[in-house]
Amino acid sequence: METDIARILIHRDRIEARIRELAAEIAATYDGEDAGLTLVPILSGSIIFVADLIRRLPLKMKLALVQLSTYPGTATSPADPRTVLELTADVAGRHVLVIDDILDSGRTLRRVQAMIRARGPRSLRAAVLLRKPGQAPPDVPVDFVGFDIDDLFVVGYGLDYGDLYRNYPHVAVLHTELTS
Ligand code: 5GP
Ligand code: MG
Repeated sequence: METDIARILIHRDRIEARIRELAAEIAATYDGEDAGLTLVPILSGSIIFVADLIRRLPLKMKLALVQLSTYPGTATSPADPRTVLELTADVAGRHVLVIDDILDSGRTLRRVQAMIRARGPRSLRAAVLLRKPGQAPPDVPVDFVGFDIDDLFVVGYGLDYGDLYRNYPHVAVLHTELTS
């Protein structure tokens, strides 16, 4: 795996430090209303992020999972997201925080936000680990952002290419010959 990586963009230590900050921001936002909080991680890319984040969150919370497929197989540009797994728990009347690995065109988050809004949540917010520059439209609000990155295709820390590299501990860029 290591030999496929061209360079590390964000080292695991920086990710860990930033997640502590994000957890503090999120905890302050939901202070006093955590009893009705449901986190909705978008599978599969957000699994490492959400696992690290929730262990830093001193809040009472439930999880509801949802899975969308945006980059089919080894494509590195987005297609229209397809729902693979519907929300696994009811979010009506709950404070909902959607968690995704990366915000690119915003199509994935827009789809999930619409799905949740239709179920009558008490509030709806979103957190992403990474955000690519200036591409997400204004109708897709994001409340918590880990890192703004350049418009690169990245893997690691949950993010895949052809379902590989999710277990690479840093956010990294692959050798170009692998993704072309
Ligand atoms: P969007 O729908 O905002 O265009 O893209 C978001 C989804 O596409 C993310 O959940 C993620 O799965 C995938 N994605 C977007 N950019 C990247 C990237 O640079 N690397 C990887 N591995 N996946 C990405
Ligand atoms: Mg994803």
